[in-house]
Amino acid sequence: MFKRRLGRTGLKVSAIGFGGIPIQRVSVEDAVHIIRRALQLGVNFIDTARVYTDSEFKIGLALKDHSNGCIVASKSRALTKLEMENDIKLSLSNLNLKRIDLYQLHNISDLESYNRALQPDGAIAALKEAQETGLIKYIGITSHVHSLLKKVLASDLFDTIQFPFNPLETEGLELIKTARDYDVGTIIMKPLAGGAFYNSGAALKWILQHDVSVVIPGMDSIQQVEYNLSILGSPLTEEELKALKQELKMIDKQICRRCEYCQPCPQGIKIPVILLLDAYYQRYRLPDWAKDRYKSLVDVTPEKCTECGLCEERCPYKLPIRKLIREAHKRLSS
Ligand code: SF4
Ligand code: SF4
Repeated sequence: MFKRRLGRTGLKVSAIGFGGIPIQRVSVEDAVHIIRRALQLGVNFIDTARVYTDSEFKIGLALKDHSNGCIVASKSRALTKLEMENDIKLSLSNLNLKRIDLYQLHNISDLESYNRALQPDGAIAALKEAQETGLIKYIGITSHVHSLLKKVLASDLFDTIQFPFNPLETEGLELIKTARDYDVGTIIMKPLAGGAFYNSGAALKWILQHDVSVVIPGMDSIQQVEYNLSILGSPLTEEELKALKQELKMIDKQICRRCEYCQPCPQGIKIPVILLLDAYYQRYRLPDWAKDRYKSLVDVTPEKCTECGLCEERCPYKLPIRKLIREAHKRLSS
């Protein structure tokens, strides 16, 4: 397996790691087989999260007596010290580990949340304490907002950053270079733009041409694991690049990149959240989970849209947002 350095952690991680979202939708037994096959083929980096329902638990089972030095990363959306302390304990228990290699602030989307986490009674204080007591080894952060991650890098508080980067979402290019300057590891989430790319091999090859530490496609079958890992070592061909570009043209106007430029909506509609949950519904095939989260996270639904069009003017990708959120609402509230 081709290994890369995870920034200042010095850890040598497999260029392709294992993203822990899709194993939520397979049985415990299947998840264990899939993860163990990935380990067998040389994967040594697994990423999960507190909010991925039973993902941590399944990974914990798969690693039992089979870890072989696998590097495990998890994350929590907690912003306060107390909540983060509790989440670290839960992750350790679910994963059946005494120490988690990397623990990340999960999906920080605005400066207010980031600043909350930095307060003396904020989540970072809990992460630092857990690091001192040996419950976690390194601290990272995940976000879809590149401008925020640029600030984060300058803070020098984090060993890794995790963000989306793929042929459709190329804004991360600058971030990759800046992270390299700070010697911060780069973990690439959403390598297939949330399942938008059919040709996963070509998309992964395209990403790995760049100076990233590890890319973490989510995989829910042995075939996917074997196929994704088979691309290592073979460069992207002219033909694959041409096919990728054709695919890009088809999906370009459908996929939200979660850049947040459309926010705030005068009606308070959280457009990126709605479109993300719709992606979970449609492309990740987690409809029940997406509907549940929709009920709890979305207090203002697209029914309140006044059709002012401001969001579409601001969206750099020219997405037909009004149509997309209406359709998403129909699915998520059904
Ligand atoms: S709808 Fe457009 S502007 Fe809003 S988050 Fe998605 S890609 Fe960005
Ligand atoms: S068109 Fe609708 S969703 Fe977009 S900014 Fe206006 S009210 Fe908000």
